[in-house]
Amino acid sequence: MECTTNRPGAYCKFMGKNGCTFVAGACFEVIEKCDGCGRIVETEAGRFCSVYPHPEMKWQRGICNFATHVRPELPKDASGKAINPLKAAKRASKGR
Ligand code: SF4
Repeated sequence: MECTTNRPGAYCKFMGKNGCTFVAGACFEVIEKCDGCGRIVETEAGRFCSVYPHPEMKWQRGICNFATHVRPELPKDASGKAINPLKAAKRASKGR
C-alpha cells in the first residue's frame, strides 16, 4: 500500500489498512554511513531509505548490501590480485 507516514505516496509493504505496521509505526531516518547512497529519498519528514525501513540495522553486520556508494573489499592474494570467493571455496573443498 501507499505510505501515509514518512514517505507519503511511496509503495511500502509495511503499510496496512490500519497504518504502518513497522516497529515504531514508521520507518527510521538514514544514518551517517548512508550519506552518498542513491537510495536515499528526502521528504518533509526527513531523509529515508527507499528500500529498507531501518538503515541502522542494515549496517550492524558490516556494509549495507543495498548501498550504491560503497562496495565490500574483495580478499586479495599475496600478489595483490583479487580472489574470487566462490572459486576459492570450490578449490578449498577439493583439497587443493
Ligand atoms: S540502501 Fe543501505 S546505505 Fe543506502 S540508504 Fe538504504 S540503508 Fe542506507
